[in-house]
Amino acid sequence: MSAWQFPGYAIVLILAVLFACGSAALAWPRRNARGGTAFVLMMAATATWELFRVLEAVAVLPDAKIFWARFEYFGIATVPVLWFLFTRQYSRRDHARAGLGPAWLWIVPALTLVLVFSNEYHGWLWADIQPASGEPGAHLVYIHGVGFWIAAVYSYLLILLGTLVLAGAILRRKAVNRRQAISLLAGAIITWIANLAYLSGLSPVPGLDPTPFTFILTGVIYVYTLYRYRLFDLVPVSRHTLLDNMIEGVLVLDNEHRIADINSAAMRFLGLSGDSSIGADAPMLLGSWPQLLQYCDSPGETRGEIYVLGRHLDVRAVPLHESSRRRHGLLLVLRDISNHWVAEEALRDANARLQAHVAEIEALQVKLQEQAIRDSLTGLFNRRYLEETLQREIARSDRSGRPLGIVMIDIDHFKELNDAHGHRAGDVALQALGALLAANTRGGDVACRYGGEEFVLALPGTTLEVARERAERLRQAVEALRVEHEGTLLSMTISAGIAAYPAHGERVDQVLDNADQALYQAKNNGRNHCVARAVEARPPSKT
Ligand code: GH3
Ligand code: MG
Ligand code: MG
Repeated sequence: MSAWQFPGYAIVLILAVLFACGSAALAWPRRNARGGTAFVLMMAATATWELFRVLEAVAVLPDAKIFWARFEYFGIATVPVLWFLFTRQYSRRDHARAGLGPAWLWIVPALTLVLVFSNEYHGWLWADIQPASGEPGAHLVYIHGVGFWIAAVYSYLLILLGTLVLAGAILRRKAVNRRQAISLLAGAIITWIANLAYLSGLSPVPGLDPTPFTFILTGVIYVYTLYRYRLFDLVPVSRHTLLDNMIEGVLVLDNEHRIADINSAAMRFLGLSGDSSIGADAPMLLGSWPQLLQYCDSPGETRGEIYVLGRHLDVRAVPLHESSRRRHGLLLVLRDISNHWVAEEALRDANARLQAHVAEIEALQVKLQEQAIRDSLTGLFNRRYLEETLQREIARSDRSGRPLGIVMIDIDHFKELNDAHGHRAGDVALQALGALLAANTRGGDVACRYGGEEFVLALPGTTLEVARERAERLRQAVEALRVEHEGTLLSMTISAGIAAYPAHGERVDQVLDNADQALYQAKNNGRNHCVARAVEARPPSKT
């Protein structure tokens, strides 16, 4: 009799080993995703269970079968724990994205293994083992002891809890991908129905555990899920590598305002720590930032700026919709724009300063323009301004047909006043005369210091005669004027020559020359006189 034989059902078991190994291999590169490590280990444990189940199947002698059956427990005892860890991590019920959970979870599996390998001393795991028939290589029927049932209850508890976690995730739409979760659940349920059937004595082949056979179905479903629904590829991995490495803060809220996802940048911006934020109530967690909370209710896409913990954040709220148009959450993207903001602030400052400078320069310019047309001692217009103005006034006079009177004034014996009282006294006298002239001009008149102690009045719309009368009144006013300087009362007289446009010439210089001629006459007449240029005297041909 050969030590090995090959029952047909071993083919199914071998295929199941291959599918379990395939699932583990496919998931291996994604082991850092949520639940990835637990999934890889669960598939490895399944493969171990299957592999030794194959050896048990092909061994002929009952002792050899029992020998291999013991090793199956490395898988049998650990798969439920790994399933429990996987579902919790995958569904984000566990804070850890990977890891093997607390040590106490593993106490029962460890004790189970101890019982398996010491069964001949107590029979607590297997109370009795009998071949199903007298045929060589017939499968063994195990009568289970109390140790087995304790382990079974523990396993079913974990399986149930894990299944509920996964089902809950599907119902709450919290699972990354509903179809992934449904497939995972389907794969698991097939196996557990088979296992329950075995334990309850309802196995199609009495005494033969159908569980390992269903692993081929589970394996097919899981390989399909890994490929078709990109288990671990989609959100868990991208979340880890993408979201967490993003400089933008990302927050996902579900319709109940719970935080469905948050990346590390968002936690940093909002001063949160730990994974505990996931699943938390947004109004509670973000209570300190009411400006941010108002975005949580935004019906459409909104954008704005908030100030949080010393940062200026650009906030973009985007409602999330599934293929159906129903809204199922809200995405908040936070971007740190503090630098930008500081730069903008600096720019605003610079701009304000620049504007102040421009205003200052404009004021200075106005002042300069004034200075350019004013005489600094008397405040009257200067000669340059007079010449420009006279050009304009002549043109205006041509249009209106009204005359333009010109009065040229010179202080009499001013040199003597300077000599007698000093140059400073002369200046004070000039200022007093300037003030008097300014006080006696009307709107439209131009009073100007023509040079030294000479002044010119341009009187638009004034005839020669009226100009002479005004000059005469001025002469009298000056004669009556007394200027106090260092305790001395200064007095002076003026002589004035009067001419008019167009009576005394077509050009500015011709009219001014005629006024000068009249002034010369006034001086000759003994000073303190006003002389109007005779009309027939024009023109003193100078050009
Ligand atoms: P008249 O015109 O009556 O013939 O005699 P005058 O003494 O005024 O003679 P002239 O016009 O030749 O002299 C002008 C004087 O005015 C000479 C100069 O010292 C004085 N003068 C000119 N500009 C200023 C000034 O800005 N300040 C002072 N204090 N004196 C001035
Ligand atoms: Mg003079
Ligand atoms: Mg003079």
